[in-house]
Amino acid sequence: MTNKIRTRIAPSPTGFLHLGTARTALYSWAFARHFGGEFVLRIEDTDVARSTQDSVDQILASMKWLGLDYDEGPIYQMQRLDRYRAVIDQLIAEGKAYRCYTTPAELDVMRDAQKARGEKTHYDGRWRPEPGKQLPVPPVDVQAVIRFANPKDGVVTWDDLCKGPISIANREIDDLIIMRADGVPTYNFAVVVDDWDMRISHVFRGDEHVNNTPWQINIFNALGAPLPLFGHVPVILGDDGQKLSKRRGAVSVTAYEENGFLPEAMLNYLARLGWSHGDEELFSREQLVTWFDGSHLSKSPAQWDAAKLGWVNAHYLKTLADDRLAELVTAQLQRRGIVATDVARVTGLFKDRCSTTVELADWVAMYYADVHPTADDLAAHVTELVKPALPTLRDKLFAAEWNKAAIAAAIKETLAAHGLKMPQLAHAIRVLVCGRPQTPSIDAVLELFPKQTVLTRLQRA
Ligand code: GLU
Repeated sequence: MTNKIRTRIAPSPTGFLHLGTARTALYSWAFARHFGGEFVLRIEDTDVARSTQDSVDQILASMKWLGLDYDEGPIYQMQRLDRYRAVIDQLIAEGKAYRCYTTPAELDVMRDAQKARGEKTHYDGRWRPEPGKQLPVPPVDVQAVIRFANPKDGVVTWDDLCKGPISIANREIDDLIIMRADGVPTYNFAVVVDDWDMRISHVFRGDEHVNNTPWQINIFNALGAPLPLFGHVPVILGDDGQKLSKRRGAVSVTAYEENGFLPEAMLNYLARLGWSHGDEELFSREQLVTWFDGSHLSKSPAQWDAAKLGWVNAHYLKTLADDRLAELVTAQLQRRGIVATDVARVTGLFKDRCSTTVELADWVAMYYADVHPTADDLAAHVTELVKPALPTLRDKLFAAEWNKAAIAAAIKETLAAHGLKMPQLAHAIRVLVCGRPQTPSIDAVLELFPKQTVLTRLQRA
C-alpha cells in the first residue's frame, strides 16, 4: 500500500464540461501536481440514456484546452461492469447487500403512507434480510434491484477538506439502490469501487454531493477499503446570486473558449473562485501548483463575476506572445468567414482596449473585410458640413506617402482648407473607413490599411 497522493475528476458525459466541474478538476489537478502525485480522469457514463460520445469529446477537449493533463484515463465506468458485479456478488454473499423486489408502484404506496403519517419518505427495508425475519417470496415477474444494507445505528463522520467536520446519523439514511435491475450500478456504488480500485487519496467534488458521502463512506467500510479524504467545494453562484446555470448564461468551458477567453485566464480566474493565496489575483499555472496544497479553500459559495473574468482575460491578452495572439484572432475571424493573414501587423494597436479575442477580432475585421456603417452613424457624422472636405482629403492622401506622419499632415491640411475641427473630420473618416465613430488615433488606424482601401471607402460618402 502506498500513500501516494492520487486525485481524480469524474465527469458525467451528459453535456459540456461545466465551469463548476472544471474548477473541481483544476483543484484536483493542482493538488496532485503540488504533491508530486497523480491525477486520474474517469468518465462516469452509467447514465446510459443521457451519456454521449459527443460530450466525452467535448470534455476531453476542454481538459486539454485548460492544460489539465492526467496521468491515467479516461477510464469509462461502462467498461468496468464486470468488476462492479463481482463486488456486488461479494457484498450479497456477506449479507451487506440484498435483492429488493419492490416495484415502483409499491414504492409509491409506501411513500404515500409515510407522508400521510407525517414521516420523511424512505425505503422501509421490507426485503432487507434480518436475523429471524421471514422475507416475502420473490415474485417471478419482477427483476430485482440491489440495495446496500446501510448500518442502522451509529454516526458517519468525516473531516471535510473544505467544510470541516460533518456528521450524519445512520438512522437518517435508508438502504440505497446500488445496482439497477438492468445490472448497471448507481453512482454512489460505482464511485466507491472506482475510488478504491484507483487508489484515490483525496476526493474533491461539488457541494451537491455532500449528502452522498455518508453512503459512500459506509460502502467503503463494508468493502474493507481505506477511506479517501473528501473535500466538497462550495457551489458557484451566478451574477444574480442564483446557482450558475445554463439559463443564466454560459456555463461550459467550451463557450468561454469560443467567446475569446484564454485558457491561462480561465485557469487563473477559476482557481481564485473559491480559493485564495493571500491577496494574489493574477498568477500563473506554475504559481498555482506551488501554492495549492488544499488549504484556503472557501467554505462559502463563490460568486461568478463576469467583469472580473474580463479583467483577468484582458491582462493575459496584453501579455500574450504576438504570434499566439495572432493565431487566436485569425481563428476568430475565420469563424466569421473572414480569411486573414499576418494579423499580428494590426493587433498591437487594439489589444490594450480589448478583454477578449472576440473583441479584438471585432476591431481587426475592418482590415480584412468591408465595413457597413449604420445609417445612424452616417447621418450623425458624415454631415453636409464635412462632405465637401472629403474629396480634398482623398486627393491629399492619394498624393501622400503612406505613413502615420504623412496621413496626419494630410488630415491637418484638409481641416485648415475647410475650416473644420479635428473631431468633425475624424469621426466621418472613422465611420466611412472603420464602420464605427470611435477608434484609436485615426492616423495610426489608417496607416495599417492599404492606401487604396481608404480612398475607396472615403468615396462612398
Ligand atoms: N459524476 C459525478 C458528477 O459529475 C462525479 C461526482 C464525484 O466526483 O464523485 O457530479
